[in-house]
Formats: sequence, C-alpha cells, structure tokens
Amino acid sequence: MSNDSPLEGGCQCGAVRYRITGDPVMTALCHCTMCRRANAAPVVAWTMYQESQVEFPALKPTVYESSPGARRGFCARCGTQISFTADYIPGLIDLTIGSLDEPARVAPALHYWDSERLPWVHFADTLPRHPEFPQQE
Ligand SMILES: [Zn+2]
Ligand SMILES: [Zn+2]
Repeated sequence: MSNDSPLEGGCQCGAVRYRITGDPVMTALCHCTMCRRANAAPVVAWTMYQESQVEFPALKPTVYESSPGARRGFCARCGTQISFTADYIPGLIDLTIGSLDEPARVAPALHYWDSERLPWVHFADTLPRHPEFPQQE
C-alpha cells in the first residue's frame, strides 16, 4: 500500500468516528445470517484488530447483543453498523470495511460462513472459503 496515513472511518452521519493504528489481524467477507440481518446486506466485509489498535475519539458505538456473547456496535443516530466484538475472540474488534473512509485500502483475504452464503452471491475471486468461522491459531 502506498498510502501510509492512519486508517479512519465512521458512520454515515459522522457522530461515531474511529482511527486505526497498524495492520489488521484478519480481513474477511462474512456470509453468516447474523451479519446479513444486522447490516441488511447480502455479505459483510470485516477488518479485525486488537482492541488497543482502535480508538474512538468521540462517541463510541451503541452496542446490541445480537446473540449471547456477541455484540454489534452501531451509530444510534444514523444506524450505520460499525463494529463486532465477541467472547470467542477476546481482545479483538472487527470493523466494517464499508465504514472506512477509504475502504479500497483494505481488501478481504478470505470468506467465512460460506455455508450460509446466499445462492445468488458469487465473487469472482480465488480467496479461501471457510464453511464457518476459521479456527484461531
Ligand atoms: Zn451516525
Ligand atoms: Zn457474520
């Protein structure tokens, strides 16, 4: 990547903003039914960081527990989905690539929950496809 400036992003109305330091732990396209419903979109692109890499200088996202131990962060004013944290990925935070100011700078590296992918969703890539969430090393 030629652009070394920190990644920043936020919601549609600008009330929630975030700034990222360093490189992602994992980037992915998620096909699970929960992401689909929460984002009202056929597939959701995520970029994952250590929580210490992500700073919310103003408002933090409002949190909704979408399933036990899994929390989705969104802007309470405009509704933009911002983040995902869960007990099974302690210390990590997923951010929606679609909420980045420059989403073209972060590309997904794999697909997960491909077992729940909609039959009419086809990406012309050769990225690895995992039927569920991949095992963490
Ligand atoms: Zn907003
Ligand atoms: Zn998902």
